Amino acid sequence: MAVIGLTGNIGSGKTTVCQLLAARGCLCLNADLLGRSVSEPGGEAYEQLRQSFGAEFFSPDGWLLRPRMADLVFNDKEQLARLNGIIHPAVRRVLCQKIAAVQAEEPQRVIVVEAALLVEADYLSILNQLWLVWADDDVRLKRVMSRDKLDRQQALARMNNQMPQAQKAKYARYIVHNNNGRGELEQELAQVWQQFCQDFPSIMMEQAGPA
Ligand code: ATP
Repeated sequence: MAVIGLTGNIGSGKTTVCQLLAARGCLCLNADLLGRSVSEPGGEAYEQLRQSFGAEFFSPDGWLLRPRMADLVFNDKEQLARLNGIIHPAVRRVLCQKIAAVQAEEPQRVIVVEAALLVEADYLSILNQLWLVWADDDVRLKRVMSRDKLDRQQALARMNNQMPQAQKAKYARYIVHNNNGRGELEQELAQVWQQFCQDFPSIMMEQAGPA
C-alpha cells in the first residue's frame, strides 16, 4: 500500500489535485480537517487542549473558541508551538489509525494525505512519499485573493507565513506543476500518475481509475 503525502503552499491547488486523485481511485484524507475534528468534544486532542489552555478557551457547551485561540497564537510563537504540539501528534495518531483500517480492508488502495504542513509539522514519518503541488507566487497570489476575497497585503501575509516551496521541493518525490488552467493540470497530473505507476508497479496493479 502507498501512503502519499500531498502538500503545497496556500493556493497551490492541493485540494484541486486531491479531487483529481480521488477520481483515480485514491482515498483522500485531509489532515487540516482532521486538525479541527481532534479538538472537538470527544476528539483525540480535546482533553489535553482543555488542560493546557484552560476552560476560558471553551464555550459553556464545550466547544473550542477558535477565534479566541487564534488571537492567542497569532503573534505568539510559543503559544502556537504549544497548540501545535497538541494538535499535530493527535492528528498523526488519528491518521495512523485510519491508514491501518484501510490497510486491513483494502490493502491495495492508494491513500493520499493532504495538508499544507506535512513537512513543517513532522508528518513525513507516517508517509511513504511526498508529492508537492507547485504554483508560482504570482499565480497563487491571484488565486488566494480571488478565492478568499482578500486584498493583496492580506494574501501576501498568509503566503509569507509559510515555508518556501523550494525548500519543500527537496522532500518531494514528485512535483505537480499547477501554474495554468484546469485542463493543463489534468494533463500534468496524468503524467505524474503515469510515472508513479511505472515507479511502483506492484501498487498500481489493482488500483482503479483511468490511465
Ligand atoms: P489552501 O492551502 O489555501 O487550502 P490549496 O492548495 O488547497 O489551497 P486549492 O483550493 O485547490 O488550493 O486552489 C486554490 C484556488 O485556485 C481555488 O479557488 C481553486 O479552484 C483554484 N485553482 C486551483 N488550480 C487551478 C487551476 N489549475 N486553474 C484554475 N483555478 C485553479
